[in-house]
Amino acid sequence: MTLPNKDQMQAWWMPFTANRAFKDNPRFYVAAEGMYMTMGDGRQILDTNAGLWCCNAGHGRKEIADAVHAQLLEMDYGNPFTYGHPKGFELANRLVADIAPEGLNRVFFTNSGSESVDTALKIARQYWRLKGQGTKTAFVARVKAYHGVNWGGVSLAGLTGNRKSFGQGLEADFLRHTLLPENAFSKGLPKQGAELAHELSDIIAMRDASNIAAVIVEPMAGAGGVIVPPEGYLQKLREICDQHNILLIFDEVIAAYGRVGAATMAGKVGVTPDMITTAKGLTNGAVPMGAVFCKQEIYDTFVNTGDASAVPEFLHGYTYSAHPVACAAALATLDIYKNEKLFEHANTISQYWEEGVHSLKGLPGVKDIRNYGLLAGIDLPAGIAGKVAAKTLEMGVTVRPAGDTIVMSPPLIIQKEHIDTIVNTLQEAIPAAQK
Ligand code: PMP
Repeated sequence: MTLPNKDQMQAWWMPFTANRAFKDNPRFYVAAEGMYMTMGDGRQILDTNAGLWCCNAGHGRKEIADAVHAQLLEMDYGNPFTYGHPKGFELANRLVADIAPEGLNRVFFTNSGSESVDTALKIARQYWRLKGQGTKTAFVARVKAYHGVNWGGVSLAGLTGNRKSFGQGLEADFLRHTLLPENAFSKGLPKQGAELAHELSDIIAMRDASNIAAVIVEPMAGAGGVIVPPEGYLQKLREICDQHNILLIFDEVIAAYGRVGAATMAGKVGVTPDMITTAKGLTNGAVPMGAVFCKQEIYDTFVNTGDASAVPEFLHGYTYSAHPVACAAALATLDIYKNEKLFEHANTISQYWEEGVHSLKGLPGVKDIRNYGLLAGIDLPAGIAGKVAAKTLEMGVTVRPAGDTIVMSPPLIIQKEHIDTIVNTLQEAIPAAQK
């Protein structure tokens, strides 16, 4: 494959990329298979990030490619407003049966995590209006959260850098994040900090529940640096939301589809929110698609309130909602997860992963290591994470710097030998990057 030269690197305004600097240090991927990406120079790189937290079944899955190809030939597209198609219903039914926790049995399709988040926020606001409580419009989010880049999600960005350039957004209050020094180097769910959920009661006392539509949190936060919820914290949020009649939304764009060793984090910890936003692993990253899982009561409120002959109950949807090609990709992906028992594998091998990443404790500069399921975050001194990532890349492993944290979320097909390679590479790269 011919790579573009500097003059040809013109028109593409690259996302979340230092466009000015890219030309001087361009990095290209040209192919991908299984656990590996092929770089522009032909080197095979072990992918510890499943692309961008999405290729959970590994790269280049033929089953998905075949399903997409067949669907394109059978029906490439159909208007999803007022028309349905069989695969849309089949996929929604499968998601309710196999992925969503009990009670979340309606699915709204989107094309991305950002769209799933904004869809859930709009559902929350209209829901309260339909209930005659239209003053409930404000949202509560959390510091260090990432909820995508559309207007709703960016208003609720707890990573303030993502929010500050864009001016006024939705009204929101922010809970503190749950990274506590006393939990440093915890394995699995940290023991301290469930009481941080009580900050929600303080916000409610100040704002009044009659003004708050929903609380949104990543139950297992990714981009903020793999922040694992303290034991009991999510349960407490649920209790407080219930006491005050506030919807609880879990943003599981990263966590769902096996990443935490179960179909969802909600299911894993036994806390059922009112909505769950998903995307990424839904199609193994192969075709853009997202899905919002909703409680039946929310759906019923929309379809049973008001005049049955009126316009659509929810004036919201995308040209590509439940795109047939995305549905085909998602169905093939869910088959792979099931047939290869990948969620179970992720859960089992996460023990070995945990031991491996925690063996890096004691290396120079390593301030904290967090893990859960097939996720890990390693905190380093300011400015070092990018250098470590550059070093591992030289050594044949790609890791992602998120602020001062190295974050990893390997494909769920990972085996022990891959974990050994990742750990050995970091063992060398972390000190080397600080010399
Ligand atoms: N929510 C969370 C928790 C995410 O991690 C992401 C993406 N990393 C999004 C939303 C946005 O997803 P997308 O990039 O598909 O719009």
